[in-house]
Amino acid sequence: MAHKTDIEIARAACKKPIRDIGASLGIPEAHLVPYGHDKAKVSADFIRSLGDRPNGKLILVTAVNPTPAGEGKTTTTVGLGDGLNRIGKRAAICIREASLGPCFGMKGGAAGGGFAQVVPMEEMNLHFTGDFHAITAAHNLLAAMIDNHIYWGNALEIDQRRVVWRRVMDMNDRALRDMVTSLGGVANGFPRQTGFDITVASEVMAILCLARDLDDLQRRLGDIIVGYTRDRAPVFCRDIKADGAMTVLLKEAMQPNLVQTLEHTPAFVHGGPFANIAHGCNSVVATTTALKLADYVVTEAGFGADLGAEKFMNIKCRKAGLAPAVVVIVATVRAMKMNGGVAKADLGAEDVAAVTAGCANLGRHIENMSGFGVPVVVAINHFATDTDAEIAALQAYVAHQDSTAILCRHWEKGGAGAEELARRVAEIADAGAADFTPLYPDDMPLFEKIETIAKRIYRADGVQAAPAIRDQLRAWEQAGHGNLPVCMAKTQYSFSTDPALRGAPTGFTVPLREVRLSAGAGFVVAICGEIMTMPGLPRMPAAETIGLNDLGQIEGLF
Ligand code: ADP
Ligand code: MG
Repeated sequence: MAHKTDIEIARAACKKPIRDIGASLGIPEAHLVPYGHDKAKVSADFIRSLGDRPNGKLILVTAVNPTPAGEGKTTTTVGLGDGLNRIGKRAAICIREASLGPCFGMKGGAAGGGFAQVVPMEEMNLHFTGDFHAITAAHNLLAAMIDNHIYWGNALEIDQRRVVWRRVMDMNDRALRDMVTSLGGVANGFPRQTGFDITVASEVMAILCLARDLDDLQRRLGDIIVGYTRDRAPVFCRDIKADGAMTVLLKEAMQPNLVQTLEHTPAFVHGGPFANIAHGCNSVVATTTALKLADYVVTEAGFGADLGAEKFMNIKCRKAGLAPAVVVIVATVRAMKMNGGVAKADLGAEDVAAVTAGCANLGRHIENMSGFGVPVVVAINHFATDTDAEIAALQAYVAHQDSTAILCRHWEKGGAGAEELARRVAEIADAGAADFTPLYPDDMPLFEKIETIAKRIYRADGVQAAPAIRDQLRAWEQAGHGNLPVCMAKTQYSFSTDPALRGAPTGFTVPLREVRLSAGAGFVVAICGEIMTMPGLPRMPAAETIGLNDLGQIEGLF
């Protein structure tokens, strides 16, 4: 039987009106702000009224290091949410919104896959409720106001060579990485070198995802450092007086979006920072709201557990006072084979030895996640090509790590394929065995925080950094930023900074190339190895095959 594509399955969905989904969570219709019939924002007033209701249990879905074979974190997040509802639990899911960059590039969409998807899939992957456009506009308003301030006399004495606020666009466009602006004469201002980042790398995105409410949002926006004066004093967004107007532009975007899975599980889809260059989790507002309305909240952190989950724990949970009850690590036979040295073209042939060899990658993630004091379950996302012997090898390896690997078929069967995983996850969450602790204390010096992540999570021998970078970190400590967590920017493909080093590499060091202070978001970004803040499109972008068919339906999204 030929499988239906993700978009065909999504198109055939029997969606409930969004007010029914809201009602299933106890959200009165008056507090849903509808965007069409199948999407709504949950009003800020309603969220405020939830006050100190007790929280449900938080379940984090993460994964082994991604390979071109695909792992399926979002698919598993959706499948587990549906599975929990099928076994009679009140569950909701929380995932990120999609960026147009990967959608038209090569990664495809962000709504899950097969029979474990969030709908409307097309809209979620494209403009959705406009949040990313609002973030782009707010970011670029500040950029325009900085150049305008300089144009009209530069009362703040901003050093034009030290403006650190770039511009953003939600597109993969390498042509915009480095440029000179204000060319063309006196009326156009003062030429200076700058560039664009992708919107999901914007500090405004990170702020929206970490802010508690609109007041906190405006305070954090005000704290953004936009540049420095000649004597290196920071100039803040507040000094440019952009924080009020930016908050106005973000007022609707701050309210979480509610949609549904194919099986009508409520799905909060809100915020979307990338996990390799930003902190990689959906918004704090969505997660805390979901926790007040459902007994179990399943959420996803981007890329492998070395990136997204580490930042989920050390940034999001620390800052929002959240604590996960269970971590689910998604693994696939295919990814284990690739980690064990098999090339993508050869994934079709059974190779038990390669599965076992590749499991070293999974083993390290299990140890790392357990180190946060949270129980771990492994979900094997089943692919049609997996053989029984390969699955058995994966399960045997995990049993040897004192954990359990449960075979899941939600991609093929929806929530029914994830019931066993759901039962196990609920059982662990209900037992209350988790004792969450972040990896490092707030008062650890910044460089030591970076070293701690590099050594304890990546298992590097150490961190290499030029004296200027260490001096910069010390200067920020003296300026009162020493208590911030660090946001590691690193390749997602390896524990190391070399994307080709799969499995569980040892004997490497982490080169710390650059550090950036995101004073508004509340973290220090540590850029390790070569990481792009503006991706490019591949030789054959997905956009080439996206279009409308004769019925006016979208084709080519996946
Ligand atoms: P992640 O969140 O880890 O990036 P996704 O859940 O978005 O991964 O899945 C990536 C792609 O892989 C999707 O197109 C999805 O349809 C596909 N996929 C996921 N699980 C399976 C599976 N079990 N069999 C076949 N394809 C799958
Ligand atoms: Mg995903």
